Amino acid sequence: VFLALLGAAVALGLTALVLVLVEAVNILLPADTKFGIVLDAGSSHTSLFVYRWPVDKQNGTGVVSQALACQVEGPGISSYTADPAQAGESLRGCLGEALALIPEAQHPGTPMFLGATAGMRLLSQKNSSQAGDIFAAVTRVLGGSPVDFQGAKLLDGQDEGAFGWITINYVLGLLIKYSFSGEWTRPPEGTLVGALDLGGASTQIAFVPRGPVLDTSTQVTFHLYGSSYSVYTRSYLCFGRDQILSRLLAGLVQSHSASLVRHPCYHSGYRSTLPLAPLYESPCVHPAAPQNLTQNLTVEGTGDPGACVVAIQQLFNCSSLQGLGDCAFDRVHQPPLWGQFYAFSNFYYTFHFLNLTSRQSLATANATVWEFCQEPWKQVEASYPGQDRWLRDYCACGLYILTLLTEGYGFSEETWPSIEFRQQVGGMDIGWTLGYMLNLTGMIPAEAPVQWRAESY
Ligand code: AMP
Repeated sequence: VFLALLGAAVALGLTALVLVLVEAVNILLPADTKFGIVLDAGSSHTSLFVYRWPVDKQNGTGVVSQALACQVEGPGISSYTADPAQAGESLRGCLGEALALIPEAQHPGTPMFLGATAGMRLLSQKNSSQAGDIFAAVTRVLGGSPVDFQGAKLLDGQDEGAFGWITINYVLGLLIKYSFSGEWTRPPEGTLVGALDLGGASTQIAFVPRGPVLDTSTQVTFHLYGSSYSVYTRSYLCFGRDQILSRLLAGLVQSHSASLVRHPCYHSGYRSTLPLAPLYESPCVHPAAPQNLTQNLTVEGTGDPGACVVAIQQLFNCSSLQGLGDCAFDRVHQPPLWGQFYAFSNFYYTFHFLNLTSRQSLATANATVWEFCQEPWKQVEASYPGQDRWLRDYCACGLYILTLLTEGYGFSEETWPSIEFRQQVGGMDIGWTLGYMLNLTGMIPAEAPVQWRAESY
């Protein structure tokens, strides 16, 4: 109740009430609660999460809860190349909210981490000194806070996938369970779930295959609570939502005249004009740019899902990336899919919008997306007033997700129902941040708890 009131007060800008409520929450918190902060510096934006857990149970699973998810205003930190200091400044609002939530006496003992993902991976490839300036700027702001800042790191794609896998299996209580009666139990084998993540600049898959992982470079081994888990994990740079949309448009520019593009993934009747140059700033976009980049580009939708799928399929072709991104979607390297999967981030946002998050067949999902793509733009706008930010792209994203999951990762009509599209489980956002913190704070030890080991051996 207090947190709901606090949220409402923050939304209404009632500073005095916020302070009173924060104080009240702090007084009510058991003294033995610990906190940790993780910032997810993604390509499109940064989120800050505050986690809390009871001190005496910190080696259990399912005991960590999410106390705050704060969305940083503005774009991802990789966008601040022209003014790196602003990347740091942009974090102050959420940092302030986190500090207000954590009792002051506990600030010095609260670890804080920042992990940057594919947006910064791309910037590091393109201009490592700009990436360095941005890391320095965020480190200055976070390092100056009263909590125990442990540094800003660039996560590689494999870690991003693997920590997402730990998060989802941890929150579902599938690694080890601490029951109400105070006993440790290990869930039955084969219940572990896989993780599917679709960010702005990259996409990740992570799961424990039934057989061995033949290509060991795609394997991450965790020793958690006395068990070893060999997780197949891969990340595909330039296959995130925003990069795919840019690559799609650039591909169409190439095959049309440079000033007018008839776009099959946009609804018929949609028309907009945009500057051409920003499209070619991303290293994921093939450098065959038109001669005159100062001109504007007019995009006209044709609402043709068949042609849109063909254009998307071309993005899976290796020559479209020239070694920058990762095009190895030939499933030779991927072990056969196994078990249930949780699909989050943009997989969830897009399928939630399209009403496709409840279990249905692949054929139904396909038919729903195709039908939506064929709706005229006027009708789409009228049906979803006030949702303009992402509206024009749900058709392209829906078709991309279907193509990625089937032709990229190899889901079929048979395995499709094993995918659960979710943003949260048990009040926790699904993503790599929780797994990252659990790992770095040593909260998921390699050994099983003493009591549990005594029972099992
Ligand atoms: P995030 O998981 O927030 O990093 O977002 C991944 C991608 O989804 C980015 O391309 C975001 O721009 C996009 N996105 C975030 N929120 C939404 C939403 N509500 N609907 C559609 N796309 C979204």
